Amino acid sequence: MGLCHSDLHYLKGSLDISLPVVLGHEVAGIVERVGSAVTRIKTGERVVATVTPSCGACRNCISGRPTQCERVDSMRERQRPRLLSPDGSSVESLGGIGAFAEAFLVKEASVAVVGSDLPPQVACLLGCCISTGVGAVIHGAKVGPEDTVAVIGCGGVGIAAIQGARLAGARRIIAIDAVPAKLELARNFGATDTVVSSSDPTETLIQVRSLLPQGVSHAIEAVGRSQTAELAFSLLRPNGTATILGLMPTGSELRIPADALVYGDRHLQGAYMGANRFLSDVDMFTDHYLNNRLDLDAMVTKELPFERINEGFEAMAEASTIRVVLNMTDRQL
Ligand SMILES: [Zn+2]
Ligand SMILES: [Zn+2]
Repeated sequence: MGLCHSDLHYLKGSLDISLPVVLGHEVAGIVERVGSAVTRIKTGERVVATVTPSCGACRNCISGRPTQCERVDSMRERQRPRLLSPDGSSVESLGGIGAFAEAFLVKEASVAVVGSDLPPQVACLLGCCISTGVGAVIHGAKVGPEDTVAVIGCGGVGIAAIQGARLAGARRIIAIDAVPAKLELARNFGATDTVVSSSDPTETLIQVRSLLPQGVSHAIEAVGRSQTAELAFSLLRPNGTATILGLMPTGSELRIPADALVYGDRHLQGAYMGANRFLSDVDMFTDHYLNNRLDLDAMVTKELPFERINEGFEAMAEASTIRVVLNMTDRQL
């Protein structure tokens, strides 16, 4: 299972969640048992989980936006609590998963089967950072070979977005991060240019304009702060689109210049979980990985046994970290 910044936000309290809760949502595992109504998944299969289960039949699902499934609440609904504390009160699970555990119970719609040729320590990445980062570029932004892309934030999601832009054939990919070491990593994953971001967004804008005087056709925000989302919009050329991926604290607001929006035909959009299409995306990601077009191995910069999870959370602050992956050492995948 991978450690995601969302887990860290809930851990620190910067994003709200009902307590008590079992965190963890970026996970691959083996199906131990299935219920009688399950038709798509079999015992023994290797699966990857998603926080966006979808019904496959509502208007949003059939129009290719399953992350906005109209029945997402009923897809997650349960007749009985999934987990109980010793006093009988219910315990929440992040995203209906709660992966920081030896075993967890999920709805059929929350998992996709992956082939055994995908190593489990990289398969888990498909569940969150790859779905979000690559998904945002392919489905959310719909980047193509004519496009120039700026990616703000070079953590797991940002690096995945850079790889997505490379897969999509973008002609320029500008990685932006405050930490120079992250930018060196970004080049290995397909960034053609790098910009060290400044605390003054105007400075960052000037640097991007020195590379592309008109601005970029797509800016992808993978940080989760209103300042970086506003920066994403400011980097756009006319007709450009800013796609915001980062989850921001409840109540956050964005300020964008109306003139730039209207006179320049610019676009600002969200792409929750990268607007991914999980069930078919998992096959797409697997094929790109197996054919060396999507580098998952190098994204796992640290592997630890599950018992050292807190060390893993601390390692997330290191400049060299892209993803920390925890292994259940007593279980063979
Ligand atoms: Zn995540
Ligand atoms: Zn649906």
